[in-house]
Amino acid sequence: MKVSKFGGTSVASAAQIKKVAAIIKEDAARKIVVVSAPGKRFDDDIKVTDLLISLANASLSGNDAEKELQAVVERYADIAAGLGLGDEIVQVIEQDLRDRIGQSKENRDLFVDQLKASGEDNNAKLIAAYFSSIGLEAEYVNPKEAGLIVSDEPGRARALPEAYENLRNLRDRKGVVVFPGFFGYSKDGVMMTFARGGSDITGSILAAAIGAELYENFTDVDSVFAANPRVVDQPVEIKRMTYREMRELSYAGFSVFHDEALMPAFQHSVPVCIKNTNNPSAEGTMIVAEREYTKSPVIGIAADGGFSTIYVSKYLMNRELGFGRRLLQILEEEDISYEHTPSGIDDLSVIVRSHQLTPEKEERIIHKCREELKVDDVHIEHHFAMIVLVGEGMHNTKGLTARATTAISQAGANIEMINQGSSEVSLVFGIHEDDTNNVLKALYKEFFSTTAVLGV
Ligand code: ASP
Repeated sequence: MKVSKFGGTSVASAAQIKKVAAIIKEDAARKIVVVSAPGKRFDDDIKVTDLLISLANASLSGNDAEKELQAVVERYADIAAGLGLGDEIVQVIEQDLRDRIGQSKENRDLFVDQLKASGEDNNAKLIAAYFSSIGLEAEYVNPKEAGLIVSDEPGRARALPEAYENLRNLRDRKGVVVFPGFFGYSKDGVMMTFARGGSDITGSILAAAIGAELYENFTDVDSVFAANPRVVDQPVEIKRMTYREMRELSYAGFSVFHDEALMPAFQHSVPVCIKNTNNPSAEGTMIVAEREYTKSPVIGIAADGGFSTIYVSKYLMNRELGFGRRLLQILEEEDISYEHTPSGIDDLSVIVRSHQLTPEKEERIIHKCREELKVDDVHIEHHFAMIVLVGEGMHNTKGLTARATTAISQAGANIEMINQGSSEVSLVFGIHEDDTNNVLKALYKEFFSTTAVLGV
C-alpha cells in the first residue's frame, strides 16, 4: 500500500486534478490520497489557504467579509465546473464556509484554524466526488472520524501517539481514501492545524500508521535539486538522499518537503519519494535510511535568511557556572527559541529567527543581560543568512571546510559564524543576507560543477 500526497499546485485547478486521478488509476497500490488546498495556478496567484486567512481576518475585524468569502467559493466553483461536477458541491462548500464564519470568535487562533483547515477539507470532498464521478471507487474520510488526534496547539499541532493506532484502521477501507491534509482534532474534538505547509505531515503520519511500502509526495518538480534552481542555473538532481539530509535541507529553506514531515516516516521506516504530478514518469528523489556517499559527500546546499544574532561577551565567561543556562532562560522568558549558539572563551552568540523579536523584546533582553548577567557587552544584529552544506559523507572527507571557506571568501563575503553539529551531517555558515546568492553560487560551483547525478 502506498500513501500519495498531492501538494497545492497539484490540486490547484480542474486540469491538475485530472492528472491526479490518472496517477491514482495507474497503480492499484495507491490506496490513500492526501490532498492540500488548491494552491497557485500561476506565479501571482493566491493560495486558497491565504484567501482563507484573509477571510478569517476580515471576519474577525467585524466586516461582513462577503468579498473574501466569494473569492474562496469562486476557486472551488471554477474547479467543480472544470471537472463537470455541477453546482451542488459548490453550495455545500459555501454553506460550510458560512457555518465556520458563524462559529465563536472568542479564541482568535482557533477561529483562524477552523477556516484554514477548510481549504483541504473541502478540496478532499470535491476530489472524492470527482473520483466517484469517473468510476473510481473513493470516499472522503474526515480526520476526526479516522482518529487523527493532535496536541492542543492551534497553528502548530503535532500528532499524538494514539493517532497512529487509530489511523491504522484505514488499511481496511474499500476503495481509495481521500484524506484532507494539514489538520487533526484535539482530544476534546477541537480542530487544529499543523504548521504552514503541513499537508506533508499528514501524509507522513498516515504512511507511518498504515505501514505503507512507500510515501509518495507529489509536487511540481521532477526531483529535489542540489541547490535552489531560482539562484543556481540548472542545478543537479538528487536521486537518493537520507532522511537526515532531507531534514537539514528542508530546515534551511528547501521548500519541497516540510521538515516536520520526516520524523513519522523515518521512525516507521517508510521510504519517501518526491515526484512530479506534471511528469509522473520521472523517477523522482528517494529519501531513505542509508545511501552510498563516497562519490558525493555533499548532497545539497541550502540558504535561508531572516536570522538575528544576540552577541554577549564577558571576561572569564568560561569559568562562570550556569552562564549559558541563564542567558537562554532570558530568551525563554521572552518566548524565543534559538537555532545555534557558537561560542568562544569570553563570548557567546545566540542565533535566532528574527521574526521572534520585537523592539520591546530586544530592549528587555539587553537590559536583563546587563543587569542579571553583568556582561561587558551585549548587542543584537539583524539580517543574517545561514548557508548550510549538507551531506552524510562530510564527516570522513578531509578538506571540505577549507574548500567551502575559500569559495566564500572568493565570493567577497565575510563569514560571521561557522557551526558544525556533532553529527557532521551539516556545516553551517552565517553570512550577511545580501551575500546569500553570491555565496550559494560560489559554493555550488565548488562542490557540484563536475557532478552529474547525486546520491547514486
Ligand atoms: N494549505 C496549507 C498551506 O498552504 C498546507 C499545505 O498546503 O500543505 O500551508
